[in-house]
Amino acid sequence: MEVRVASKAGFCYGVKRAIEMSKDTVRNRPGPVFSLGPLIHNPQVVAYLGKLGVREINNLGEIKEGTLIIRSHGVGPALLNAAQELGLDIVDATCPFVRRTQVVARDLMTKDYQVVIVGDKNHPEVQGIMGWANGKAEVVENPWEAGLVKARGKKIGVLAQTTQHMENFNAVVETLEKTGSVVQACKTICSATSERQKAALELACQVDVMIVVGGADSANTRKLASLCRACGTTTYHIEEAGELDPAWFRGVKAAGLTAGASTPDWIIEEVKKRMSEIEELNGSEEGMKDAVEVKAVRHGEIVTGTVVH
Ligand code: SF4
Repeated sequence: MEVRVASKAGFCYGVKRAIEMSKDTVRNRPGPVFSLGPLIHNPQVVAYLGKLGVREINNLGEIKEGTLIIRSHGVGPALLNAAQELGLDIVDATCPFVRRTQVVARDLMTKDYQVVIVGDKNHPEVQGIMGWANGKAEVVENPWEAGLVKARGKKIGVLAQTTQHMENFNAVVETLEKTGSVVQACKTICSATSERQKAALELACQVDVMIVVGGADSANTRKLASLCRACGTTTYHIEEAGELDPAWFRGVKAAGLTAGASTPDWIIEEVKKRMSEIEELNGSEEGMKDAVEVKAVRHGEIVTGTVVH
């Protein structure tokens, strides 16, 4: 079995930057260091940062002092203000591409557009962007939901959660244009995401099985997996090497491997190594299946042995 890794996979710029900023913060700032929610959607990396001293909290009410790291997903202005009022030391690790999206949302809202965000309503990045649009944006996940948007006589400004798939975004824009409103489409999808999606799709179309590595809660990893499935290739989404099942690779000639933007290189390497070990294991089982026990009589004695085809 050949194991092929997608040409673009794993950590993106924004995630790398947030992790480096967190490590610097723990090293250089006094007092406890917190992140509001997991720093990235990867439990193994969060556990590693936890050991270094980054503690996870669920809301600001849990702390009175210390340093608060804002995750790469960013937050809305209300939360930033609340943290400042508490006197917390703030390290803003919002990815610059997410920050640009927040600014676009704020500007559209200021110019009296009906803001539409294409994305997952429950994702922290979308909730943060919503805050920059004064909470007045509509969030749609697909063209069908876009058909329900009420522009109330306003121009519509559409932007996307950075991890959205471009085809879905374009389909939403097309639906909104059919309402007769003036539509301003702002392409805020990050190229790291589209490059990983393109590379995953290309690879998925060339192999018998795809392994997608990343946190179960990682939106961009889940999207990679759904894209690979959409091209008809059997696809498994795992978080780490221990979840690989040798049965997935029986009879497989080529297997593909890709990873979400919050998956570190060391996990990708572990998965790749385990896939190669499984290949050897399956190969030797195949060999055993083909092995035939033979018996022969030589110089009056029965001799047994095994022949492998
Ligand atoms: Fe930033 Fe793009 Fe990474 Fe999101 S996927 S953190 S927008 S670089």
